[in-house]
Amino acid sequence: MSDGIRPVGARERLGPLGRLLFDTEARPIWDHDTDTLSRPLRRLRHRYRDFAEVHLSCQGLAADRDPDFVDIPELFLRAAREGFGTELMPPPWGTLQITAVWRGLLLPSVLKAEELCAADGGLGLALLAHELGIAPLFVSGDLKAYFYWLGRIYREIRAGEPAMAAFAITEPGAGSDVEDTEGARSARLGCFYERVAGGFRISGRKVFITNGAVARWVTLFAAQKGCGVETWTCFLLDKSMAGFEVGRHERKMGQRAADASELILDEVFVPDDRVVGEVGAGWAISRNVLNFSRPVVGAMALGIARGAFEHAARFCNETRLANRPLSDYQDVQLTLADMLMKLSAMRATVWQSTRYRLPFGAAGAIAKVFCADTSWEVCRTAMTLLGDHGYVHSASVEKAARDARLTQIYEGTNQINRLAIFESQTGAEFGSDCAGCASCASCASDASGASGASGADCGSGGECGPASPVQYKIKTDRRGQSE
Ligand SMILES: Cc1cc2nc3c(=O)[nH]c(=O)nc-3n(C[C@H](O)[C@H](O)[C@H](O)COP(=O)(O)OP(=O)(O)OC[C@H]3O[C@@H](n4cnc5c(N)ncnc54)[C@H](O)[C@@H]3O)c2cc1C
Repeated sequence: MSDGIRPVGARERLGPLGRLLFDTEARPIWDHDTDTLSRPLRRLRHRYRDFAEVHLSCQGLAADRDPDFVDIPELFLRAAREGFGTELMPPPWGTLQITAVWRGLLLPSVLKAEELCAADGGLGLALLAHELGIAPLFVSGDLKAYFYWLGRIYREIRAGEPAMAAFAITEPGAGSDVEDTEGARSARLGCFYERVAGGFRISGRKVFITNGAVARWVTLFAAQKGCGVETWTCFLLDKSMAGFEVGRHERKMGQRAADASELILDEVFVPDDRVVGEVGAGWAISRNVLNFSRPVVGAMALGIARGAFEHAARFCNETRLANRPLSDYQDVQLTLADMLMKLSAMRATVWQSTRYRLPFGAAGAIAKVFCADTSWEVCRTAMTLLGDHGYVHSASVEKAARDARLTQIYEGTNQINRLAIFESQTGAEFGSDCAGCASCASCASDASGASGASGADCGSGGECGPASPVQYKIKTDRRGQSE
């Protein structure tokens, strides 16, 4: 090929100003994306990747076969020594870099999640679940919880103790239910508190709690005995409390290095000062935690997919078919390009979700659903490219597919996240923006129906209604009657 029709050669034929307008250097998109970050974030992204390559990559497959292969608290302490476990408070208490978060509080967290999970999804989850565990102390807005309790946990970590945290909402009869507004109203809860002198007594079970067995601290949600989610309250428990035990460990399909355990509470006494936020504010806190954690799950899914893509790309470069590398075949090129395109779209979605002035429901759920579904596709494509190697454990892409599958389930299944997107944007992009009033024709005629007319006046003087001037047809059956 003549130099004139190569991208690099083409650039040389442009005038000096034209050469400044585009970059033809062959560099990974990872590098191009890193260039768009502020200097502190660029440094942080490199440090996360270096840590993950040294401490996670080499142990991931073994930890997948035997979850006890890696001492998770020890790994956590190694990460903490790098400052990667205490990022929710600035120095001297923690390692939050104000300069790194000023454009988006969550951006460092998603950078970390991508790098850890690109190296290994299971070990990545084990390290990241700690942040989920302490998130209620931060997002509750409760200053005592933040400065006193989080400060104390960080002091322990700085002193070299593996003071990991876990987040416990799921119960045998309440999973999606407590993450979705409709479901929450009828959730069959099984973890309750009773008020007693000086505090609360909590009994019940939590299931599938990541790091449940290794965490020292647990932010746990329980309802008042005999009541529903409206009384849900967040408590900070520690495992040394009498009556608090770890039950069954789940044998999982993917992300096996991270433990998922049952927690059993038998009349555990929890003092008053362990309530996070207000009594009854549990559901609001858990929603806020999910708004913060869903972009991170999106980034984990992205990291897992990137790991699978990098294996597949290497395989296609190194494997020869009829004396040519696989990557010389055009259908393989199309497939690899398609995978890279999906990774780019995932990263754009995740980063965008963290760049809003404040996180909001739809942004996090969109990042989570899109990346989890796309990651599953990318990992399966990687398996296809590797053929028989895609099916064997040592090549690690079958593991990536198993790891990716879990991102479609936790932090609310993808169906529940789709409902969250709809709910977050109702009134803005879906449904009527009138909350139901007494004066407009559409609400008044519907007063007995499903639009939930509240009888209050929305102030439109009866003019509110669909913003669109188009009157859509009412669906009719074959005889022309409305259905
Ligand atoms: C490995 C692992 C780790 C986990 N870690 C944690 C943790 O650390 N802390 C924690 O609290 N929880 C954790 N979970 C729990 C996880 O968040 C829940 O499993 C998840 O939210 C789904 O809830 P569920 O299992 O009760 O499913 P269900 O609610 O029983 O859902 C079953 C099916 O019904 C669908 N469904 C339910 N409601 C609706 C609806 N309204 N519309 C349409 N479809 C619906 C769901 O999408 C799903 O397909 C973990 C789970 C796993 C598997």
